[in-house]
Amino acid sequence: MTTALITHPACLRHEPPPGHPERPARLQSILTALEADEFRPLVRREAPEASLDQLSRVHDRDYAKEVLAAIPTRGVAHFDADTAVSPGSRDAILRAAGAVVEGVDMVMKGEVKNVFCAVRPPGHHALPDRAMGFCLFNNVAVGAAHARAVHGLERVAVIDFDVHHGNGTEAMFFSDPSLFYASTHQWPFYPGTGRPGEARPENIVDLPLPAGAGGAEFRRAFSETLLPALTTFRPDMVFISAGFDAHQDDPLGQMRLVESDYFWATQVLCEVAARQCAGRVVSTLEGGYDLDALARSARVHVQALMAA
Ligand SMILES: [Zn+2]
Repeated sequence: MTTALITHPACLRHEPPPGHPERPARLQSILTALEADEFRPLVRREAPEASLDQLSRVHDRDYAKEVLAAIPTRGVAHFDADTAVSPGSRDAILRAAGAVVEGVDMVMKGEVKNVFCAVRPPGHHALPDRAMGFCLFNNVAVGAAHARAVHGLERVAVIDFDVHHGNGTEAMFFSDPSLFYASTHQWPFYPGTGRPGEARPENIVDLPLPAGAGGAEFRRAFSETLLPALTTFRPDMVFISAGFDAHQDDPLGQMRLVESDYFWATQVLCEVAARQCAGRVVSTLEGGYDLDALARSARVHVQALMAA
C-alpha cells in the first residue's frame, strides 16, 4: 500500500494580484520537488471538482454560490484585503476541495494507505459563510464532512501545524464532540484566534507558541498535549492541515521549524493513525511562502507518509 499525490493543473491558475505571497509558484515548487525518482511509487491522481452539495456540508449553501458567482471573467475580485479571486479561481477552488474528497475515497476504498493533496488556495481560515486569509472554501473540512457523510466514519480529527491558527476549521468543528481539531500556531498572530487560556470543549486543542519557537517547543506541544489528546479521541481518520509557514525561512511567520520537524510530526501522526484507524491519513497543503523551504518541507512530509 502506498501514498497518493492528488493535484490538478487548475490549482496553478488561481492568481491573486501580483506580489501576493499565495502565488502559483508555491504549488509549482512542490510539484517539481515531487518529480524526483524517490517519488516514483506515488499514485498520482487528478483532483475532481467538489460539488455544491459537498461544499454545503460545511459552508452555507448561499455563501458557496456567492463565491462561485463572484469569480470575475477578467482581472481580480476581492473578498477582503488578503483574499482575491481571478478567472482561473473557480476551477482551482473546486478542485482544491475536491482533492480532499477524492483522497478520502481512495483511502476508504483501500487504493492507498494515505494521501497528500498538493492544492491551492489553502482553506483553513474559510468560515461557514466567509472567505478570509487567502481561503475561500475549507478544503480539509469538506473532506472530513465527506468521510462522515459518505463513508460512515464517526470520529474524524484534523491536526493543523500551519503557523496560523485554523479559525475556520475550528469554528466548523467547535460544537460537535465527534470532530476533533488540534492546532500548533504562533500567537499572538493572524487571525487572532486560538489564544492561550481560552475556554474550549475537549475536542478542540489549541497550542499557541510564541514567535521564535522552534522544534523543541513544537515537539513538546505535540508530545505532551496534542498526541495524547488525539489518542484519547480515538479517530477513525486523521486529516492534516499541512501548512509549512512555521519554517524558519518563511517570510510570513516567525517560528523556527526545520524540515526534520515536519518529518517527525508527520511520522508521529501516522503512528497514531496506524494504531487507531488502520493508518488512514489524508493531508492537504495549507500555507508556506518561501518557495525553497516549502518544497523541501513538502518533500519530507511526503517521504514520511510513504514510509508510514
Ligand atoms: Zn499559514
